[in-house]
Amino acid sequence: MVCVGAPNFTAALLVVYKRPSLRCILQPKKHLAFSPRMMNLQSNASDEVEGSPWDHKGLLQSKELYQYVLETSVYPREPALLKEIRAITENHPNFYMGATPDSGQLIAMLLNLMNAKNTIELGVFTGYSLLLTALQIPDDGKILAIDPDRQSYEMGLPVIQKAGVEHKIDFKSSPALPVLDKLLEDKKNKGSFDFAFVDADKTSYGIYHERLMQLVKVGGLIVYDNTL
Ligand code: SAH
Ligand code: CA
Repeated sequence: MVCVGAPNFTAALLVVYKRPSLRCILQPKKHLAFSPRMMNLQSNASDEVEGSPWDHKGLLQSKELYQYVLETSVYPREPALLKEIRAITENHPNFYMGATPDSGQLIAMLLNLMNAKNTIELGVFTGYSLLLTALQIPDDGKILAIDPDRQSYEMGLPVIQKAGVEHKIDFKSSPALPVLDKLLEDKKNKGSFDFAFVDADKTSYGIYHERLMQLVKVGGLIVYDNTL
């Protein structure tokens, strides 16, 4: 995940375009295979499958260390309702796309540090990052959540309703770009968001960034998942 302060336009574009890991997404390895264990979200995560996207163990460089961090630090802090969305997501054919709880807790910390109130999310899936954002922002906070896949959003929706935070969410079943362009037609939307989380189609991050630079306020934050 990479976090970009909104004024830092050129550097951010370089980050998005030049990351070797992003090039890897653009040219995926052959023989991709997935299992829930590859997500390292189960205590018996031990499968080694060559060529899976989880071969890259992130900054920690060790599956065991990642598991240790999850068990000692991340899972104990994860709200029960987020665990519930994660469990529901395991039944989704594309379960591996769901946000991991460690990245979620970084987002929660950032939202908290900046007292974010008005946020936007591109790429909702079953709603893990959406619910954690909704739990973090104040009761009159708002999240504009955009994803063409309403069905996946509706898998997690009962948990969002149970959490009592649905009123903060404006879900748009659409690709992100037309919604962003529509927002930009109205001057009053410029600089109106405190925070953006981008987790949609990775090849469009550059064009999303151009729009979000105008929509997120100076001093706001744009967070891109799957870039390191
Ligand atoms: N943030 C989610 C994971 C998102 S997975 C979580 O917390 O679990 C990526 C999502 O991007 C998928 O749901 C997919 O439907 C969505 N997506 C794909 N193309 C998109 C587009 N053009 N605009 C917005 N969302 C898109
Ligand atoms: Ca992601």
